[in-house]
Amino acid sequence: MNISICPIDGESVAAVTKSHAEQLGVPSGCQTCRHRIEGEPAADSMTKEVRATEFDSLMEASGAAFEVVWTRVDELVGRSTLTHELAYPGYLRHEILTGLVPSVEGIVAKLPADKPVVVIEYVEDTNVD
Ligand SMILES: [Zn+2]
Repeated sequence: MNISICPIDGESVAAVTKSHAEQLGVPSGCQTCRHRIEGEPAADSMTKEVRATEFDSLMEASGAAFEVVWTRVDELVGRSTLTHELAYPGYLRHEILTGLVPSVEGIVAKLPADKPVVVIEYVEDTNVD
């Protein structure tokens, strides 16, 4: 099993996916980072500047398991984020600081122009007997 070192606290971490870690019976991600993130105050009790600073630190160098980071990002932003949004943290940081929540079209527009987007729309069946 490959081992990586958490850049924040130097803890040895299994360099495997969450599901592989579960199969091996080892923790997923850096447990020190996990406990630190899970122990942070409730996001709605923090100023937008403090939330943005914590968001920056999560984006820069977190050895924690992805799901822990993603859950905390959702709390700091104040909504469920999509994975592609984490690739462009400047938009989420702006959203934290301004409180301006993009529309679904705005979230999709964060993708690079050359990325294909499949839009799935529910159409009610009008041929019901
Ligand atoms: Zn760590």
